[in-house]
Amino acid sequence: MTDPRHHELGHHDVVVIGAGFGGIGASIKLAEAGIEHVILEKASEVGGTWWANKYPGCRCDVPSHLYSFSFALNPEWSNTYSLQPEIHQYLRKVATDYGVIERVRFDTEVTAARWDDTTKRWLLDTTAGPMSADALISAHGFLSEPAVPHFDGIESFTGQVMHSAQWDPSYDVKGKRVGVIGTGASAVQIVPRIQPEAKQLYVFQRTAAWILPHRGRPIRSWEHAAYRRLPALQRLVRALVYYRNEFLILPALLRSKRLDLIRKMALDHLEAQVPDRELRAKLTPTFAPGCKRLTPTNDYLPAIAAANTELVTEGITGLRGDEIVTADGVARKLDVLILATGFRVTDNTFPARITGRHGRTLREVWDSASMGGYNGTTFAGFPNLFMLAGPNTGIGHTSLVYMIEAQLPYVVGALRHLKERNVVALDVRPDVQASYNEMIQRKLRLSVWNTGGCSSWYLDKLGRNSTIWPDYTFKFAKRLRRFDVESYYQEVAPSVAPAELVYG
Ligand code: NAP
Repeated sequence: MTDPRHHELGHHDVVVIGAGFGGIGASIKLAEAGIEHVILEKASEVGGTWWANKYPGCRCDVPSHLYSFSFALNPEWSNTYSLQPEIHQYLRKVATDYGVIERVRFDTEVTAARWDDTTKRWLLDTTAGPMSADALISAHGFLSEPAVPHFDGIESFTGQVMHSAQWDPSYDVKGKRVGVIGTGASAVQIVPRIQPEAKQLYVFQRTAAWILPHRGRPIRSWEHAAYRRLPALQRLVRALVYYRNEFLILPALLRSKRLDLIRKMALDHLEAQVPDRELRAKLTPTFAPGCKRLTPTNDYLPAIAAANTELVTEGITGLRGDEIVTADGVARKLDVLILATGFRVTDNTFPARITGRHGRTLREVWDSASMGGYNGTTFAGFPNLFMLAGPNTGIGHTSLVYMIEAQLPYVVGALRHLKERNVVALDVRPDVQASYNEMIQRKLRLSVWNTGGCSSWYLDKLGRNSTIWPDYTFKFAKRLRRFDVESYYQEVAPSVAPAELVYG
């Protein structure tokens, strides 16, 4: 018997979890399709990752024209690569213009979601109380849970510790001894911003990154005027950026060949920016470019080469009082330790909150095999659950917003089917899901992400790539243009409404 409290906050046709790019995009398309829904957002603001990440220098390394919704282009971008405040402002404006804001319940975190096979509903526990929904769209974001490594003695460290995604804006690094752990996309943006302020900066590098020249520039006022007057021009620029990435960058990543040009560009950049041969050797990666996300920046390497920076390549053994200690026994004093250590992606704990029809959580299912789904969107045994930016929807060469947008017609198609055909449960067939994942893995086999000789967040603990879409992204969009009901088991509603069965 269902807990009647799940009705206290009301029942919704659809509950959307998260108000980032995914949740906002979903809400817009659901509203256009006339589907009733609510968005639950744990923060007090929209934006998702672009609200959470406020570290100095936070910027998108995908061109702005492409890193935005196709239906809401922004002629006002101030730079070809936008900074976080401007992306957040864009998302807030879109959410306001399209009426999404009114449908968001802020400060409301979903703590559990359980499929109830009696009522054919999702029963949710939230920090604002219980509720229920016919369908659930999880747009919780796959880069939303900070990975915080454990170091011996960290509990008694006397300095401040900050993860890049949990930045304390009131902390001033001016005149401080700062340690940064990590050399990924976040670190290369933080380091150049804090190096001029810090008294001493230590960058702890476990793996050198491939640093490419950054091509960003301010967008001129005549360009703004042109985009305002001629939206088709901005669409053309967007299309050029999109197809350049698809046809010039993706093929190299997919076949792990023709990466020499990228390697040469990065090595030339390194040579031009770091005169010291010994330092250059430390900064030269030993794996194939593209295996980890390529990081474009013009000011990271000069910041590493600056007089007040030390690049530490010895492994960290622990923390002691106000010191960080490395394997060679050297102790360095720190006022603040910045963890630019990335996110829990393949071991994200949010799926542990979602329980399917057989009583197992999505986390348990993924732990017993590997993270996977169908079309990156649905999961066998989890009826009426749709995930945005789910397994194997990640990309290393273009915009995730494109992938999220590609999922929306599919999700809306499924929800329309539920509503219009009197269907109460859609559950993807396990054989369809299995052969889909075989296809994905086959295509990934020769890719640089799998063969490039690095360990990255793209791979799970079994070494399986459960994050990247291994083909042209327009093929993903084509696949998901139509909801393929034949791939699903469906249950038609009984003559008595489910709510009446339980509560009547
Ligand atoms: P990341 O790429 O996963 O990098 C984490 C860094 O921390 C790596 O250098 C890693 O070293 C190091 N690290 C982790 N644990 C460590 C430990 N115990 N000891 C020493 N070093 C340790 O994380 P990120 O930089 O936050 O980026 C994550 C993703 O967020 C990116 O790939 C990208 O998709 C997204 N992002 C995007 C942008 C953008 O511009 N669009 C900006 C920031 C982030 P190893 O390499 O040796 O593992």
